Amino acid sequence: MTEHYIAALDQGTTSTRCIVFDRHGRMVSVAQHEHHQHFPQPGWVEHDAAEIWAVTRRIIPEALRKAKISARQIAALGIANQRETTVLWDRTTGTPLHRAIVWQDTRTSGMISNLSSHVDLQDITHRAGAPLSNYFSGPRLKWLLESDPRLHERVLAGDVLFGTMDSWLVWNLTGGPNGGIHMTDATNASRTMLMNLETLEWDPVLLGVFGIPQSVLPEIRPSLGAVGITVDPVPGIRICSVIGDQQAALIGQTALRAGEAKCTFGTGSFLLLNTGADLVRSRRGLISTVAYTAEGEPPVYALEGANPAAGTLVDWFRDHIGAIRSSAEIETLASQVDDCGGCYVVPSFSGLLAPHWVTTAQGIVVGLTSYVTRAHLARAVLQATAFQTRDLVEAMNSDARDAGTLAQARYLAVDGGMTANNLLMQMVADLTNVPVVRPMMAETVALGAAYSAGLAAGYWADKAVLRRNWKKAAEWQPHMKPDTRDGEVIRWTHAVRLAAEWGRL
Ligand code: ADP
Repeated sequence: MTEHYIAALDQGTTSTRCIVFDRHGRMVSVAQHEHHQHFPQPGWVEHDAAEIWAVTRRIIPEALRKAKISARQIAALGIANQRETTVLWDRTTGTPLHRAIVWQDTRTSGMISNLSSHVDLQDITHRAGAPLSNYFSGPRLKWLLESDPRLHERVLAGDVLFGTMDSWLVWNLTGGPNGGIHMTDATNASRTMLMNLETLEWDPVLLGVFGIPQSVLPEIRPSLGAVGITVDPVPGIRICSVIGDQQAALIGQTALRAGEAKCTFGTGSFLLLNTGADLVRSRRGLISTVAYTAEGEPPVYALEGANPAAGTLVDWFRDHIGAIRSSAEIETLASQVDDCGGCYVVPSFSGLLAPHWVTTAQGIVVGLTSYVTRAHLARAVLQATAFQTRDLVEAMNSDARDAGTLAQARYLAVDGGMTANNLLMQMVADLTNVPVVRPMMAETVALGAAYSAGLAAGYWADKAVLRRNWKKAAEWQPHMKPDTRDGEVIRWTHAVRLAAEWGRL
């Protein structure tokens, strides 16, 4: 009998991966390629959507070749993608009309500040599930339309399509040069600030706030459900799921019940708590978002804490400061000292998001003395990610307490590139005071995309089968004394306040 597999596309911030999985959730092959990061101005981050599509075209056949299988052996393809990254393209030629504005980009901060005084902020938060912020793609779309009147005219004439990376890839995969299906899923749509979190449809009031014509937007479909059949680069593969990368990681960690959470440490870090059928409204600055939707089932919601600068800070320390040659080297360097030498780094390169929401905040280093060495700084760089995780876990636990239906986090399931760093994971356990566990399977985003597609296609019978694939690889227990932790948190909280004030100067 011919063996069948599931393919997953993980279109991430720094690279795109195609991974083939078998029935046990094991990786059979991987093809991966990076794309360029463009930083044209301070705070601006751009990608070339055409380059990302070119990379995708290469890696899908490469992954099949490496797995020694044909397209007919792929039972379904699932797509997970970097969220909030904004693309507009020509409906006829398929050409992107500008560089994609990446989720870390802060160019809309000024626009958001101006808008804040004219709109009903509470109403926006209620409809979109998050505070008005430069983090989401709707404001980026407004910025694009305002910065280029000709583009705006073309949008009004119906010549242009908008999408996040999921829409861009599906449109190309299903249509070849003439364009295909223009869709997104509810998780990606929930990151635009244009979708109503209760109806899961484009919200007329939000469209009005941002001046967006609905005709430019994709159709919102379930995350788990038939999308279409590929025509390019490998024809005949069924796309059965589209889902934002962090929601995919939640599924990849099999955090499928209300009250289960995960934290992914990649370029940014993202804590998601599954709240089940309850749309929990955060009182502590977390985002209410869609965990996933499945055809014919009620939506599953999540609470999310997003921190845009986790691995980014390590990259900055490596590439812009030149203090280390590889990301992994930061652990060796930081381990040369026992503490940060009184130094704290607040990496608000893209402002402060959850739970603080100061979009104008700027990064700071405080506590410098002549005693502080490169090793202390390396440790402070890592500790920044642990502190930010602590702030998010605190907010999540408080919200869970308020909701009454959810338990406090008993442990934190982690994944992502930074979890290779044992020192960092120990810091996270110490500062959150919660045990940290990492599964054997590190590629949880791709695995979650595969699980979503495989469930939708009937490749896996139910979610219980997936749980059995989750195997623990490592665990870190909290060791820090409560007094030490309290003192550290007071100093960190003060440093965060300084970062917010500095941005206001
Ligand atoms: P993404 O999917 O967001 O592109 P990954 O999960 O691949 O990110 O993680 C990449 C990030 O993790 C980079 O910012 C990199 O510097 C950081 N990273 C990788 N290995 C380590 C390490 N050993 N210690 C600290 N940071 C690391």
